[in-house]
Amino acid sequence: MIQAHSLPDALDTVSMKSLDHSDTDNAEGQVRNRATRTRRQGLPMRLLRLFAATLWFAGGYVAFLLRKYVSGKRPLHCVILYYHGVAPDERQRFGQQLDAILRFARPVAVTGQLPHEARNRYVAVTFDDGLDTVATQALPELLERRIPAAVFVMSDLLGQDCTWKDYQGHFLSSEELLRLPHDLITFGSHTCTHAFLPGLDREGACWEIHESRAKLEKLLGRRITHFSFPYGAFNEGLIEICREAGYEHVFTTVHQPARRGINEFVLGRVRVDPHDWPIEFRLKLHGAYNWLPIAIALKRKVVRILRMSGMGGALVP
Ligand SMILES: [Zn+2]
Repeated sequence: MIQAHSLPDALDTVSMKSLDHSDTDNAEGQVRNRATRTRRQGLPMRLLRLFAATLWFAGGYVAFLLRKYVSGKRPLHCVILYYHGVAPDERQRFGQQLDAILRFARPVAVTGQLPHEARNRYVAVTFDDGLDTVATQALPELLERRIPAAVFVMSDLLGQDCTWKDYQGHFLSSEELLRLPHDLITFGSHTCTHAFLPGLDREGACWEIHESRAKLEKLLGRRITHFSFPYGAFNEGLIEICREAGYEHVFTTVHQPARRGINEFVLGRVRVDPHDWPIEFRLKLHGAYNWLPIAIALKRKVVRILRMSGMGGALVP
């Protein structure tokens, strides 16, 4: 089993929807490798992604215009963002991103129902891990603009020091969570221990998913109906366990729009960071990074074919 807290969460490239049991043995290694690659992702890769996103956006805009003029209908646009922490020196940029959201769309809570006004654009804000900077840095900016947000926390780590690399702070305690404004901030489960769920047997996964909900409901005195997968790692079996546990929505880190708003059970999200360039952030709001899951799936398929053909050893290190 992967040790909790050893990896950055929510790698936007890590989705294990199609992971079967034969894959789980090396799943931890896959995540670790991708984590390393993500950390190493330098300017060239970032620019390449930006270029691809710009092309995707341009293509999408043409399709949008065609649809609009042919059918007169504008499809629902709903993007769910996820952050982690907001460092003190990032607060201003975070505020500017919230301003961009307000200019672009109507902010909505993931716990609410979307109005049936397809002509509007909607954006929901979430935070994974429940880091203390959500309260100290992000909250004042959210409050100022009255933008709702959901915070996904680990029930067994509340109040503990965060030992993750590059982060100095702590996870919000239950007292701190209770002091957050309830009309603006909602809570969800992020397991008990930030476990890598595909690496657990069914009993272990059930415990993380069921028990975290029960503990948080007891600690916080409110219903916990939302769940997000640590490391963005999930599969069909885990989704089913979440259904059994009584969650109403589960959140992944797969870049994809919420096609029916926030009323689906499995909802993709788009990773954003306060240090995103303004153009990156705007393109993410437009869903212009939705090509990423397609590119990743394509890459995996090519790698698998190369391995099966015996060329993988030479071409894929
Ligand atoms: Zn996490």
